[in-house]
Amino acid sequence: MPNESGRNKVAVITGGSRGIGLAMARAFADEGYNVVITGRDIARLEQATQKIKGKTQAQALVCDVTAAESVANAFRDIAQKHSSIHVLVNNAGIAHALAPVEELPIETWKEVVDTNLTGTFLVTRAALPLMRPGSTIVNNLSVAAVQPFAGMSAYNASKFGAMGFTQALREDVRKKGIRVLALLPGATDTDIWEQFWPDAPRERMISAKSVAQAVLHAVAAPADTAIEEIRIGPAAGVL
Ligand code: NDP
Repeated sequence: MPNESGRNKVAVITGGSRGIGLAMARAFADEGYNVVITGRDIARLEQATQKIKGKTQAQALVCDVTAAESVANAFRDIAQKHSSIHVLVNNAGIAHALAPVEELPIETWKEVVDTNLTGTFLVTRAALPLMRPGSTIVNNLSVAAVQPFAGMSAYNASKFGAMGFTQALREDVRKKGIRVLALLPGATDTDIWEQFWPDAPRERMISAKSVAQAVLHAVAAPADTAIEEIRIGPAAGVL
């Protein structure tokens, strides 16, 4: 019998047009959630909704997480359609070409920090008024939120910062009964690798679907429990 733990619930997933975000959207839709996916490219988002075959229709919304106004507009649209959000996944993120600090352009630094760190703050701030006790915020960080890598200073800084934000947020919303999950995937087979290591051994990476299944499991944990961190990666390692 199909599992319907997400029936009448809403999951909002930023960066849901491909990769880990799309895999999570598919997993939540399979579970019966109404899914809202966001990103910057509406054509790509609408294509992605065709790949989400849930019991309810997936909604595509443009939302650039680096722009406060774009985030506010998207959540105004969501609030018109849904009275609450049960799961928010802050997933939108970018990496950058490997570069030692002395060669890293300021534009790259700003773009990565604006997306991975400030974007997570802006989206969370906009979503919180729609979140009730029992809901969950999942912040897709990375092992790079706790482990440094040469040539990845902007990515590492954005993710270490997002980990700090995640931990402070958890304390902020604990009394409201909102759970906050830090997701720390290792190497996962998605397009993001084109940005810094195009020849990476994809066959040794974990699939986005496996990451999504772990998140679904944590979100479905009994209401009196909070799984606060998931570290998941390829069993044999990649890096
Ligand atoms: P992808 O490049 O496949 O997907 C990234 C998604 O983010 C796309 O949907 C993209 O859509 C969206 N996005 C990027 N910038 C913005 C923006 N400014 N506003 C809104 N949406 C944006 O990457 P992954 O699926 O691999 O990455 C998803 C998350 O997982 C990231 O936070 C990444 O750091 C993290 N992660 C990935 C790992 C991996 O090995 N793949 C490991 C650990 C963590 P669009 O460009 O159309 O806006």
